[in-house]
Amino acid sequence: MSRLIVILGDQLSRSISSLDGADKDHDSVLMCEVMAEATYVGHHKKKIAFIFSAMRHFADELRGAGYKVRYTTIDEPTNTGSFTGEVQRASAALRPSAICITEPGEWRVLKEIRSWSDTLGLEVELRRDHRFICSHREFRQWAQGRKSLTMEFFYREMRRKTGLLMQGDKPLGGRWNFDSENRKPAEPGLLRPRHLEFEPDAITTEVLNAVGQLFPGHFGKLEGFGFAVTRSDALKVLDGFIEDFLPKFGETQDAMLQGEPWLNHSLLSFYINVGLLEPLEVCLSAERAYHEGRAPLNAVEGFVRQIIGWREYMRGIYWFAGPDYAESNYFGNTRALPSFYWSGDTDMNCLSTVITETIDHAYAHHIQRLMITGNFALLAGIDPKQVHQWYLEVYADAYEWVELPNVIGMSQFADGGFLGTKPYAASGNYINRMSDYCGSCRFDPKQRVGSKACPFNALYWDFLDRNRDKLSSNHRLVQPYATWSRMSDESRDETRRQAASFLAGLE
Ligand code: FAD
Ligand code: SF4
Repeated sequence: MSRLIVILGDQLSRSISSLDGADKDHDSVLMCEVMAEATYVGHHKKKIAFIFSAMRHFADELRGAGYKVRYTTIDEPTNTGSFTGEVQRASAALRPSAICITEPGEWRVLKEIRSWSDTLGLEVELRRDHRFICSHREFRQWAQGRKSLTMEFFYREMRRKTGLLMQGDKPLGGRWNFDSENRKPAEPGLLRPRHLEFEPDAITTEVLNAVGQLFPGHFGKLEGFGFAVTRSDALKVLDGFIEDFLPKFGETQDAMLQGEPWLNHSLLSFYINVGLLEPLEVCLSAERAYHEGRAPLNAVEGFVRQIIGWREYMRGIYWFAGPDYAESNYFGNTRALPSFYWSGDTDMNCLSTVITETIDHAYAHHIQRLMITGNFALLAGIDPKQVHQWYLEVYADAYEWVELPNVIGMSQFADGGFLGTKPYAASGNYINRMSDYCGSCRFDPKQRVGSKACPFNALYWDFLDRNRDKLSSNHRLVQPYATWSRMSDESRDETRRQAASFLAGLE
């Protein structure tokens, strides 16, 4: 009996379940770079290069460990361009008795895999992805019958399950959540250690050349590629984060500074999502730093919550909500995504900064994604599907299982509150408090109307006003609606006109 073990580009882990019990003498591993995956949305060039290079390095690692690996590069003339085509080709050549694969991270790919047994006439064994802490079944059991799917309660379950930062059945430090000690604005001019970057080796250089040639029209820059593409280098990024950035992680988690795209963030999502690092090992590493007195509890708890809380929760929601979740459009928004999302060419300094950094690095940190690009799209009433596609294209850590709920649920509230309790909508005041972007902007965050007024201000009130029937009963929005009601009729009309004229200009 010989099996074909198919390993996808985000399954680059020696402990991936499809390799469990593999027979190195008889089984073969198939890995393939295919056009269909690289182009179903126009992914950032750095994202494609990162995944292909990490795949090629992982294939070499497997060969070194004695596996037989069949690998198709993107520029190989016989490459059929799709997973199904490559599995078909490999099956014809190797004549396996069965196919084995770990479940993918997308409904779209799952559908394709489910068609293989008919197409190929072979048994297809689909295995659970053990890299995640919460299985689909566990999430369903937790979610079913609940009035609201509050992340905080899910997170506590995950703390209990993993034992992370626990003292018996109680949370370490007596509290589950130390967020009240986090979320300070960052101090400009503070000297920070540099995040690790890696010089492209021969494999990465070859990939960079191929991506430059094959995907010239895709978003983003290839120059300055510095990602880790092997597990050993990803572990160096993890160690560097724990040593240099974790102690301040909590405090500056929500801060934004001009010219500092990374601050104290971990830059680990690329590696965890692709399989080079395991979520649990990353959390254990942070927990160790706390026990050894190298990082305070507020920082470590905040970090662990992002991974066993938000990350697992997003994945749970994605599979629980079903494939139609992508169609959600609670506010009925139809406006097209403004062209400056592709170029960064706008006078609004916050947007221009975040989009330009995204073009350069295929990265923006959480608050930049949520409160700058996401917030603007929400306030301006952009079609959520276009917003979702943009996020899927532009970030090197974007895979639908994690990107979609973050965009549709958390950022755009397009699911009407299935995931979150209120929309993350904010005026220029919030951006001014949490960043230094406004100081060098031609707009004034304190003005609501007039030629210098920050567009986020009128848009914020206009968003609440036009969605009054859907939002005014939300208890978390009572205060802003009360403030809006207290404004004079004239002020409200002026604000509506300001927003309408700005939105007309967008088109
Ligand atoms: P850190 O700030 O250092 O956080 C540590 C880790 O926690 C991250 O590496 C990540 O694994 C996890 N994490 C933190 N927040 C979240 C979250 N909300 N959901 C899931 N995991 C989280 N994350 C992705 O991995 N892929 C995406 O495509 C993606 N799209 C997003 C879109 C929007 C609109 C928003 C608001 C958030 C999105 N996120 C996404 C979540 C988050 O922004 C990124 O995980 C984070 O910015 C990655 O950078 P980092 O590794 O430096 O994170
Ligand atoms: Fe952004 Fe408004 Fe601040 Fe300009 S003034 S940076 S548009 S929030």
